[in-house]
Amino acid sequence: MPAPLVLVETSPDLPASADVVVIGGGIIGAFTAYYLAKRGMKVALVEKGHVGAEQSSRNWGWCRQQNRDARELPMATKSLELWEQFSAQTGEQTGFTRCGLLYLSNDEKELAGWARWGEFARTVNVTTHMLTAQQAAERGRATGKQWKGGVFAPTDGIADPSRAAPAVARAIMALGATVHQGCAVRGIETEGGRLSAVVTEKGTIRTRLAVLAAGAWASSFCRQYGIRFPQATVRQTVLSVSAPRQEIPSALHTAGASMTRRSDGSYTLAISGRGRVDVTPQLLGFSAQFLPMFHRRWRNLAPGGLEGWRSGHESWKRWRLDQPTPMERMRVLDPTADVSTVALTYKRAVELVPLLKDACVTAAWAGYVDSTPDGVPGIGEMASLPGLILAAGFSGHGFGIGPGAGHLIADIVSGMTPIVDPRPYHPDRFHTSAWGKVADF
Ligand SMILES: Cc1cc2nc3c(=O)[nH]c(=O)nc-3n(C[C@H](O)[C@H](O)[C@H](O)COP(=O)(O)OP(=O)(O)OC[C@H]3O[C@@H](n4cnc5c(N)ncnc54)[C@H](O)[C@@H]3O)c2cc1C
Repeated sequence: MPAPLVLVETSPDLPASADVVVIGGGIIGAFTAYYLAKRGMKVALVEKGHVGAEQSSRNWGWCRQQNRDARELPMATKSLELWEQFSAQTGEQTGFTRCGLLYLSNDEKELAGWARWGEFARTVNVTTHMLTAQQAAERGRATGKQWKGGVFAPTDGIADPSRAAPAVARAIMALGATVHQGCAVRGIETEGGRLSAVVTEKGTIRTRLAVLAAGAWASSFCRQYGIRFPQATVRQTVLSVSAPRQEIPSALHTAGASMTRRSDGSYTLAISGRGRVDVTPQLLGFSAQFLPMFHRRWRNLAPGGLEGWRSGHESWKRWRLDQPTPMERMRVLDPTADVSTVALTYKRAVELVPLLKDACVTAAWAGYVDSTPDGVPGIGEMASLPGLILAAGFSGHGFGIGPGAGHLIADIVSGMTPIVDPRPYHPDRFHTSAWGKVADF
C-alpha cells in the first residue's frame, strides 16, 4: 500500500522548452528544481506518478549527521541549515524539527563504533554526545530498561516524508516553475552528441540540460544511452501506528527496532537495515560490484522474489520513445510490505517501548531503497552525454540530505560555486578502483 502523502496540483501545460528539465519528483528532484527556480531558471519538474510517491514518502524521515560517512557529512550538515531556511523563506511546512536523535545499545562493539564516529565528528565540529548507562536510561526512560550506553545527536532531526516533497513542489510553482505529474519521461534526444530535448509521454521539451533524479529507475534509464550506472534496490518494510497516549522520544534507534514521530503524532516503526533483495537481471548484472555491500549486511537481508523483476524499474530492455515504457506501466513503485517483518517490527517495538501496546497499526508499506556499491550517491554530469546530470543512488539516506543534494546539483547545473565538494559523488568513481570503500549505513 502507498505511504501517506499530501497530493499537489499539476501545472496545466507542458512547456515546449526549458532551461532545465528535472526527471523525477522525489525529494532530490524537487529540491534541485527549487534551487534552480530560485536562480531564475526556467525549470520543468516531470514526474511519472505523484510528487514524493516513491522512496521520498516511504522513509522514516531522519535527517542526520550522526554516523554519516565522511564523504556525505558536509552535505548532511548543510542540509540541516537548508531544511530550516526552506520553511523560513517559503512558509511551506516540511515537518522538519531538530528534535535530536537517540541511539541506545547494549552491544559494546556498536557503542565503540559510535564513540569512534563521535571522535571523528568533533574534528569537523559536529556535536554528538555519547551517553553513559545512566544517561541512556534517563533519555530512554520510555523503554523502562537499562542500557550499556548510547548516543544523542542534539542538532540532528526529522522531517515528515508525507509532506516534504509536496511542500517543495508547491514552492517551485510559487517561483514560476512547472510541475508535471502523471507524465513519464521516455528518453532524451541529442544533437551533436549533446542532450537537446527530453521526450515525455505528453510531448517533447527542448532543453540543453536535464537532471536524472529518477531514484530506483535511474540505472535502467542510463542503460538506454549506453551509460553503466551500478544500482541495486532493497525492498524495506515499515509500518505506522497511531499516536501513543504519552510522550516517547521523537526519534529512537536500537538494533531491535526504531521509531520516528510524524507531524500528526503517529509513529513510523521499522527494523533498521532489514530488507529483501528481489532478483532482477539488473541485480545479476551488477552483482560483482555489490558483493561487498551485501556481504556486510547479509544478516539483515533475505532473498525476495520476482516482484522487482515484474515492477520494471530494473528493466534490462531497450525502450522506444514512441511507445509506452515501463514507467507508464508502473506509475508508482509500490512494492508489497513483508508480512513477517510487519509482525516482528510491531512485536519488537512494543517490547522496546511498552506504551506502544495501546497504539494501533494504521498502515504498512514498503519501498525500494536504491543503492550504489559504496553507499554514496552518484551526482554529476555524464561525460559520454553532455547535458545529462545524474542524481541517484542515495542508498537509504537521501531524504535527510535532500536540500543539500538539490543545492549541489543546482550549483553544478548553473555553474555556480558548489555548496560542498562535488568530487566524492561523481559517478565516474564506479568505473575506477576507487569505489571500493563501502559507506556505513
Ligand atoms: C523504508 C525506507 C526508509 C528510509 N529512511 C530514510 C531516512 O530515515 N532518512 C533518509 O535520509 N533517507 C531514508 N530513506 C532513503 C530516502 O527515502 C531516499 O534516499 C530518498 O527519498 C531518495 O529520493 P529520490 O528523489 O532520489 O528518489 P524517489 O523518492 O524514489 O523519487 C524518484 C522519482 O522519480 C520518478 N521517476 C522515475 N523515473 C521517471 C521517469 N522516467 N519519468 C518521470 N518520473 C520518473 C519516480 O516516480 C519517483 O517519484 C529511506 C528509504 C526507505 C525506502
